[in-house]
Amino acid sequence: MTLHIPTPLIESRPLSLAAGSNIWLKLDALQPCGSFKLRGVGHACEVHHARGVRQFISSSGGNAGLAVAYAGRKLGVPVTVVVPETTTERAKELLRLESAKVVVHGSSWQEANTLAQTLVGQGDAFIHPFDDPLLWAGHASLVDEVAEAGLKPDAVVLSVGGGGLLCGVVEGLQRNGWGDVPVLAVETTGAASLHAALQAGHPVELERIDSVATSLGAKRVADQALACAARHPVHSHVVSDRAALEACERFLLDHRVLVEPACGAALALTYDAVALAGYRNVLVVVCGGATATLAQIHAWLAVAE
Ligand SMILES: *Cc1c(COP(=O)(O)O)cnc(C)c1O
Repeated sequence: MTLHIPTPLIESRPLSLAAGSNIWLKLDALQPCGSFKLRGVGHACEVHHARGVRQFISSSGGNAGLAVAYAGRKLGVPVTVVVPETTTERAKELLRLESAKVVVHGSSWQEANTLAQTLVGQGDAFIHPFDDPLLWAGHASLVDEVAEAGLKPDAVVLSVGGGGLLCGVVEGLQRNGWGDVPVLAVETTGAASLHAALQAGHPVELERIDSVATSLGAKRVADQALACAARHPVHSHVVSDRAALEACERFLLDHRVLVEPACGAALALTYDAVALAGYRNVLVVVCGGATATLAQIHAWLAVAE
């Protein structure tokens, strides 16, 4: 038994018609804590649990923290999540619903993370949101499930924040002998850290994040994401916040599932027929995200660029 669940793989009629390709949705929005993060985080937590750790510590007020909180509750391991003051009430409430101890500290993630590091005592495990081989190995299970279902896609569309999902999906493609299947890696304009690094040809740290897709807000991607892009076909795409938000709204109407703008970024590329021209069967990772409300998405849309 794993902490994550095998998720449905469905062919989307509305997205297929919009894209002009057969669009297959891997519905990781249906993971019990609302995002794909549980695959990698759950795997990492199980490995640490087997080693007998006393506590899990996270510094993510988003879906990574939620996945750690869920995993800890299921495994009977206490969880502390340090979040910055900017974290929404809703995100804190979701963490508390999973019985995590929530510590609010600092005006930015950097400060929260610094405190979180000092709390990691002997016998505790810090669970990183994207930069850890244990996470990638867990995320790779998503591709195993697609292979088991008998579908070999001609391309995979996914969103990129720190690049953990990208690393995991590339690992999954490679371990299933699908080294020839390209990955279309999507970011929003104000959070395009992978795009910047690929353009520069070396790791780049963005000065700031300016996007409603908060779950994509890593200023610098994991070095492994660049290594993946060097040994696997990875094509970087950037969409506007507005396109990501409109895709969230449209996806809610089409499939009755509410996702964060972070996931809307991948969906925005999929709704765009031009981007997918030439690919017959396209797998879209519906990575999900639990922290956005419909009211918030509408409020963002009212002012989005
Ligand atoms: C974390 C997250 C991402 C980005 O994943 P990375 O591994 O950081 O690239 C995308 N969408 C959602 C909903 C997320 O929670």
